[in-house]
Amino acid sequence: MSSTLRFQIVGEAFKKRPVEVPNRKERPSEFFAKYVFNRQKMQQYLPSEVYQKMCDVIEGDAVLDMATANAVAAGIKKWAMELGATHCTHWFQPLTEGTAEKHDGFVEHDGKGGMIEEFTGKQLVQQEPDASSFPSGGIRSTFEARGYSAWDPTSPVFILGDTLMIPTIFISYTGEALDYKAPLKKSLKAVDKAATAVAQYFYPDVKKVISNLGWEQEYFLVDEGLYAARPDLLMTGRTLLGHDSAKNQQMDDHYFGSIPMRVAAFMKDLEIKALELGIPCKTRHNEVAPNQYELAPIFEETNLAIDHNMLIMSLMKRTARKHGFRCLLHEKPFAGINGSGKHNNWSLATDTGILLHGPGKTPLDNLRFVTFIVESLMAVHRHNGLLKASIISATNVHRLGAAEAPPAIVSSFLGKQLSDLLEHLETCTDDELISLTGKQALCLDIPQIPELMQDDTDRNRTSPFAFTGNRFEFRAVGSQQNCAAAMIVINTAMAEALTNFKARVDALIAEGVEPMKAILRIVREDIKTCKPIHFDGNGYSDAWKQEAARRGLDVETCAPIILDQYLAPATVEMFSKMNVLTKAELLARNEIKLDTYIKKIQIEARILGDICMNHIIPVATRYQTQLIDNVHKMADIFPAETAERLNGTNMSLIKQIGEHNTFVIENVERLIEARRVANRIKNDRERAIAYHDTVAPLIEEIRSHVDQLELIVDDELWPLPKYREMLFIH
Ligand code: ADP
Ligand code: MG
Repeated sequence: MSSTLRFQIVGEAFKKRPVEVPNRKERPSEFFAKYVFNRQKMQQYLPSEVYQKMCDVIEGDAVLDMATANAVAAGIKKWAMELGATHCTHWFQPLTEGTAEKHDGFVEHDGKGGMIEEFTGKQLVQQEPDASSFPSGGIRSTFEARGYSAWDPTSPVFILGDTLMIPTIFISYTGEALDYKAPLKKSLKAVDKAATAVAQYFYPDVKKVISNLGWEQEYFLVDEGLYAARPDLLMTGRTLLGHDSAKNQQMDDHYFGSIPMRVAAFMKDLEIKALELGIPCKTRHNEVAPNQYELAPIFEETNLAIDHNMLIMSLMKRTARKHGFRCLLHEKPFAGINGSGKHNNWSLATDTGILLHGPGKTPLDNLRFVTFIVESLMAVHRHNGLLKASIISATNVHRLGAAEAPPAIVSSFLGKQLSDLLEHLETCTDDELISLTGKQALCLDIPQIPELMQDDTDRNRTSPFAFTGNRFEFRAVGSQQNCAAAMIVINTAMAEALTNFKARVDALIAEGVEPMKAILRIVREDIKTCKPIHFDGNGYSDAWKQEAARRGLDVETCAPIILDQYLAPATVEMFSKMNVLTKAELLARNEIKLDTYIKKIQIEARILGDICMNHIIPVATRYQTQLIDNVHKMADIFPAETAERLNGTNMSLIKQIGEHNTFVIENVERLIEARRVANRIKNDRERAIAYHDTVAPLIEEIRSHVDQLELIVDDELWPLPKYREMLFIH
């Protein structure tokens, strides 16, 4: 690209006027879930006995038979065609991080030479997409290409454009999960079972516990003309080069600032689409970095919340294009300013109320609260390394550990009141704590927890797993990740912790210990055990890194080694006992994650090499030649002594450019060689470590020299849009 082209693109972006702000006359409550076949539509479009059967299936009390499936398909077809749908697809979440779909038209021969519209129960329930090109981690060799997708009736079908989308799980022909949804659903079942059993100690009527998730999606918007002129953004989702802009986020003037008009139009458009698709969008605001924003819906049941997050990420990308933007979901699109995360607010709730909610009205409520808090900590303590592994990636590493997001050590912040409460429980004697009054009524000396706790707990932004009043907020999840990876771990670990808890409590009860005393005794034991995970201090400090290591927490920072946690004995044991993932499936997931890690860095290295050799070096050399030319001409017109004095600065620039160019060219060579050496390593883990140790650091080193060249070379010649252009023009 020539510089004139860059100026043209920048000029275009600058001129763009806000598009018309979309508006709908109806209120959101009137068009909410218009394109979703939810219970209300079921009631409307299905015969009542079929509707009842579907409710039972969704509640998990019945299996779907073919007759019901056919009847449901008939109802869905009628509804979908009324809304103009012509195609359908199973919509699933392979281990690529994105979603997958393959559309089939409703058309079928009518046997008389014409066509009819058809959509059957079989099409609704099961499809057999060729699975050979999805990552499977060696579970399914390519000659056994069949995998199949099966409808998940707990996540309603919806219409996107002209297509009926059917959320499904995706498994191999031999039954292994090839996606996120299958194990997620198993983990939700496991936590339901374990948590219901424990909740029944306190409330015998509890029948079901569900896991809730409220995600907060951060993203950047960049003008699409500028984006198109950056091969690195286009290929990798992040800028591999680019000097800091003089002004970036240091004034704190973007966060919660007034939303630029063109962006506001985009947000409005997105929200309307999302609401129509049943996503309960609530919050929108400017984030910390320039051109960075956030969208958060109201929390929902975890499986549905994850489908909605996958959907919103794709809606964001589509809608952005309509408004002349590109939406960047990469965790670190720009160096030197904040990256994007996706906080996962997680809680458990019974059919009657939230289990992590304090304060209680009764001592029993308080003990319930403490039990679920402490067992959450037990889960996170035992599997802190795995939790980190669930969110580590070649892209999220740029964000974790920088002083903007949680550090690469998982710990939990509880706030003063809750910390005091746990300490009190830990240190006082049994008799101080519990007594049985008159009619065996329980008296528990658990101090009241004031309502205001929520405010007290929220603001330690350095903590990866913070208690925020009625939920934990897992803040290490990356912006482009599928939340399921983290949610599978949290929910399964919680299921395991609660199962262990119940086994120990029941053993005491069997010995004749009164139930509440038994619970309290085990809770107090666990408060001691999980203590190392509790940390309210500054997670960015170096002292914490040492302290965390001393406490036995996982402090590993090398991504491929962090991924070992998927194969750790405690992981394998947990997932198999809770019936969520087998050892073979874990091996596959580990392999896929290593492979993805390698490929992402490989692509970055390749594109960086190309940009350096084809864009940067030629331009830097051209400018250097201009300077040299000037030096010669100065010597022609001035006496030698004057010429030497006046040429001093240019000589210095010529030299600097020469040094940077040489460094860049030599290190692009080294980068190629480092890849060549790494690629020869057969073992996936060793190869990934080689990429981590030898390839990734060179990318950053080369960058620093190119960024210096950016400061020296004539702005008119510089081929790539600069940070100040990409981040401040909307
Ligand atoms: P903040 O940025 O202050 O953390 P937000 O309002 O952006 O808060 O997002 C909080 C998210 O947490 C929302 O999605 C909200 O619905 C969700 N949330 C609130 N209570 C719960 C809960 N009990 N369980 C799960 N998520 C919750
Ligand atoms: Mg939050």
